[in-house]
Amino acid sequence: MLPNFAGHSGTISQQINKLDWTTDSHDRIVSMSLVTLTPPTLLRIVSSGWGAPRTHRNGNHEGLDFPGDVGSPIFASADGIVVQVDNVDNSFAGKFIAIQHDGGVVSRYLHNEKNLVTIRQRVTRGEVIATLGQTGTSGTGAPHLHFDVKLQAEAFQEYLRRFGTPSPGYSTPRALGVGVPAEALMSGVSYRPETKRSSLNRGVKFHSSAPAVVGLLVAGVGIGAGLRYLTNR
Ligand SMILES: [Zn+2]
Repeated sequence: MLPNFAGHSGTISQQINKLDWTTDSHDRIVSMSLVTLTPPTLLRIVSSGWGAPRTHRNGNHEGLDFPGDVGSPIFASADGIVVQVDNVDNSFAGKFIAIQHDGGVVSRYLHNEKNLVTIRQRVTRGEVIATLGQTGTSGTGAPHLHFDVKLQAEAFQEYLRRFGTPSPGYSTPRALGVGVPAEALMSGVSYRPETKRSSLNRGVKFHSSAPAVVGLLVAGVGIGAGLRYLTNR
């Protein structure tokens, strides 16, 4: 069943939604493209994944956490248009940004120190859009970027076709779409071993070309700061 996307404005998405799809003999979409997302931080290590226990948001973590130093750059994970900018630190998200990509995929960047883009700005993959911070509910933990993905109607159907439904399911549909595990769309990152294990146990699918190297190894070789965050949590 398609979720109800009440509140979603089509104006911006219609400007950039370039969909590639194939249909069956009844003109139903059987497959379409889903954008691949690249690492949003310098330290390409995920320290917390989809479904980890939380005290807010239905008790489940609905995103990926990337540890890093406060003030380090945050990169756009794909080309797109900035559709949300919150420069006020007054919610669990803190200061945050949302970017709409081709095909109804939205990526969000939470707990920022400072946002460096404005609403409706076009950004390209790898462009610096913010600095990493500790705003919102990340304030008491080690500094990290909370990264998550929302999918609009057709993109969500395609995600279901390819990756199925993890436990504990998907997030409640909101204005930007349904929250899904970003793991399946995320290339070029490593995962803390227990993070990957616990996500796999919840039925989360990972990007097919994601490196098998574990986060601790990467952190131990060359990036000393990473080890500190990884052992902190
Ligand atoms: Zn998070």
